Amino acid sequence: MQVQDKVLQVVLPTPLRQWFDYLYPQSLDPAADIAAEVPQVGKRVRVSFGRRELIGLVVGVSDQTEVPREKLKPVLAVLDETPLLSEAMLAWLLWVARYYHQGPGECVLSALPTLLRQGQPIEPEHPPHWQLTDKGLKMTAAGMGRAVKQWRLIELLRLDPAGLPMSVLRAHGFERDVCRRLQEKGLAHEVDVIPKGEGVGLPDLQHHTPVSVHKDVLAESPLTLNAPQREAVDCVISRLGQFAPAVLLGVTGSGKTEVYLQVIERVLAQGQQALVLVPEIGLTPQTVARFRQRFAREVVLLHSGLNDRERLAAWRAASEGKADIVIGTRSAVFTPLRRPGVIIVDEEHDASFKQQDGFRYHARDLALVRAQREQVPIMLGSATPSLETLAQVERGHCTLLRLPDRAAATRTPPVPQLLDIRNRRLQGGFSVPLLEAMQRHLDRGRQVLVVLNRRGFAPVLMCHACGWVAGCQHCDARMTWHREPPRLHCHHCGHRQPLPDVCPQCGEAELLPLGAGTERGEEILAARFPDVPIIRIDRDSVRGKDRLQEKLADIHAGHPALLIGTQMLAKGHHFPQVTLAAVVDADHGLYSSDPRAMERMAQLLTQVAGRAGREAHAGEVIIQTHHSDDPRLNLLCQSGYEVLAQQLLRERRESHWPPYSHQALWRAEAPKPEAAQALMQALADAAQQQPVVANGSVFCLGPVPAPMERRQGRYHVQLLMQADKRSVLHQLLATLVPWLEKLPEARRARWSLDVDPIEL
Ligand code: ADP
Ligand code: ZN
Ligand code: ZN
Repeated sequence: MQVQDKVLQVVLPTPLRQWFDYLYPQSLDPAADIAAEVPQVGKRVRVSFGRRELIGLVVGVSDQTEVPREKLKPVLAVLDETPLLSEAMLAWLLWVARYYHQGPGECVLSALPTLLRQGQPIEPEHPPHWQLTDKGLKMTAAGMGRAVKQWRLIELLRLDPAGLPMSVLRAHGFERDVCRRLQEKGLAHEVDVIPKGEGVGLPDLQHHTPVSVHKDVLAESPLTLNAPQREAVDCVISRLGQFAPAVLLGVTGSGKTEVYLQVIERVLAQGQQALVLVPEIGLTPQTVARFRQRFAREVVLLHSGLNDRERLAAWRAASEGKADIVIGTRSAVFTPLRRPGVIIVDEEHDASFKQQDGFRYHARDLALVRAQREQVPIMLGSATPSLETLAQVERGHCTLLRLPDRAAATRTPPVPQLLDIRNRRLQGGFSVPLLEAMQRHLDRGRQVLVVLNRRGFAPVLMCHACGWVAGCQHCDARMTWHREPPRLHCHHCGHRQPLPDVCPQCGEAELLPLGAGTERGEEILAARFPDVPIIRIDRDSVRGKDRLQEKLADIHAGHPALLIGTQMLAKGHHFPQVTLAAVVDADHGLYSSDPRAMERMAQLLTQVAGRAGREAHAGEVIIQTHHSDDPRLNLLCQSGYEVLAQQLLRERRESHWPPYSHQALWRAEAPKPEAAQALMQALADAAQQQPVVANGSVFCLGPVPAPMERRQGRYHVQLLMQADKRSVLHQLLATLVPWLEKLPEARRARWSLDVDPIEL
C-alpha cells in the first residue's frame, strides 16, 4: 500500500486570504525505513511559492487536500524543533484573521518578530552539536548503500570535527530523523559543547511549569490601598484563572497604576505572567520605572524603538516564560505568553490602540477576546473610557470598578471654565484673559500647561497681497509652515518643500502665517513672558533620543515655567507644579463630520484638566472656545466626562450608531478618481444583490469621496456598511471579500476593509 504523504497547511506572508497546502513527503529519504516525523503545528517551514522562497508557519496537518496531489510541492525545510506558537494562540490568531477578513498569513505572522519571520533560527544559547563517531569518520559511500541522504550528512559532518548544531544541518536540508538514523547505526552522536544546564531552549509549549514561583516577587513594599482600590484589586484577584473583564475608571492620580501593580503581584506569586498594553511607552517612562521598581522580576518592553535583535530577545523572554511582565504598545497584544495570568490595557480609550493601515485591528478589542480564550481576567483602565467600553458595562458584560478620589492628595479636579473668545482680540490664539491668568500662576511660582493641538509654526501660509495659500501638490490639504527647520510640510503625506521667498502667484514678498501651531505659540509666549522658561513638547521638539526625558526632567525640576504642546503633553504625565492648564481651541471637536469627534474632544479636555493642581496646590482649567454656550461642552465642564458620555451614548443609541450597531468601512484609492469610484460602486451594486442588504438588515452608505479625497496623489473613495447585528454584517463581508478579490476591475484600484472603523 502506498503511504500517503501528509499535507501541511501553511500560512505565508501574502495578503491572500487563504492558507496553502504543501506535502511533507515520507519520501524525503528513499532509504528511510521509519516514517519521518510529521512537523507539528506552530513550526516554521521554508517553501517555494511561485518563483520565490518564503518562510511560513504550519497551522494544520491533514491527510486531505483539495488540490490534486501531483500539483502540491513539498516543503523545503522545517525550521523549528519545537512550535513557536501554541495551538491555542494559533486558533486565536486565525479567529482574528476571520474577524477582520484578513489573510491568515498577515495575522499569524504578525505574532512573530521580524527575525523569525525572516527565518532566523531560534535555538538554545548553547545548542548541542552532532558529531561523527570514529566509525562514522571511517564510513565510505559504498558502505552506506542506498542511504544517500545519510551519506550526504556524513560528508557534511566531516567538514567540522567539533560537530555542527541542528540549525546548521537544517539549513542544509537535514532533519533530526536523518541524524537519529546515523545515531542508530553508531555513526554519529549528539554532544554538548558546554556543561549541561546552562542553555535553555524553547520549552515545550504543551506543558505548563511555573518556573519562577520560588523567587521573590517584590522588590519594595506595596502601598496600603484605600478602600476603592482594595475592592478593585480583590475583585480581579478573586477571579484569576477565569475570563473576567473589568473597567477601572478613575481620574489621573486616583491610583489605577497601584491597582495594576497589586493585581500583578498576585499573578506573579501564582507563577503566571502579566501583559500590559499602553498607548506609547516613550511618553510615560515613569510608569515603566514604577513596574521595574516594584518587582524583583524581569520586565520586558516591546515598542517601536527596539531593533530586531532586541525585539526577538524580548519576544523570547515572553514566550518562554522568562519575563514575568510584558509591557508593550498596540502590537504587543500578539506576544505569546507561556503562562498568561492577566491582561491590562491602560488608557484603553486611546486611539493609538487602533492600527490604521495595512492589517487594521484594535488591540483593546483583541485583548478582550484573547483574555476570553486564555481564561484570564482583563482590566481596562481609563479616566475617560471609550463609549464602546461603557456600553459593555451597560450590557453587563464588564464590571465597573470606580476609583472616585485622588489617592495621594485630597484635591478634587478643578471645574473647567469656558472662556468665550468670540470678538476677543487674539494674539496667536491666546486671549488677554488667558494670558493674564498665566501671569497670575507664574507670579505664584507655579507652572502653566497649554495645549495647542497643532504642530508647526502656522497651519496656513498665505499671501497678503493676493490671498494665495500654500497647498500640497499631492493632497487636498494646506501645507503647514514649520520654522525649525524652515520649510512647508504636508502632515497628510509627508511632502516637504522649501518656503517660497515670494508669492508664486503674484510675486509679492508679503507671506503671512494664518493661525498658530505650537512653534508660533512658543514664540508668542516667549515675547510676552521673556523671563520664563518655555518648554515645548510635540513630535518635532522631542525627536531624537532622550529629548523628551530631558524636557520632562526640566519640568520636574519644578521652577516656574510655561509648558506648551500638542495632546502629547496631556497624556498621563504627573506634573506636580502645574496649577493652570489651558486648551487654546476646543471648537475643533464640536463641528466635525466625524461623530466620534466630540467623544475625543471630551477625552482630551478631561485629560488636560487632570494635569492641573495634582498635588498640594489648587488648580485652574481654562478652555477657550467660540461656543461657550454649547450644551455638551457645558455638561462636560459642570458634570464631568461620565455624565457627558452617558448623553453621547443616548445619542448614539437613537441614531443607531456604534456601539449600538456595527460598521465596516471599505476604502478604495487610485491615481484616477473614476477607478476608485467605479470599484466601490461595483461593490455597492454587488451588495444590493444580497438579501441582507435588500431587506435592510445591512445598509450601505456611499460610495462617497473620502473626507480628504486626494491624498498622496491618489483619490480616495469609501463605502460604509452598517448593521444592528454583527453576525449579519460579517456574513455579508465574508461573501463580498472573496468576490472582490476575484473581480478583475479590482486591480485598477487599491482597496481595503476596515472592520469597526474609528475614523470615517
Ligand atoms: P493613576 O495611575 O490613576 O494616575 P497612580 O497609581 O499613579 O494613579 O497614583 C497616583 C499617585 O498616588 C502616585 O504618586 C501613587 O504613588 C500614589 N498612590 C496611589 N495609591 C496610593 C495609596 N493607596 N496610598 C498612597 N499613595 C498612593
Ligand atoms: Zn500673492
Ligand atoms: Zn500632502
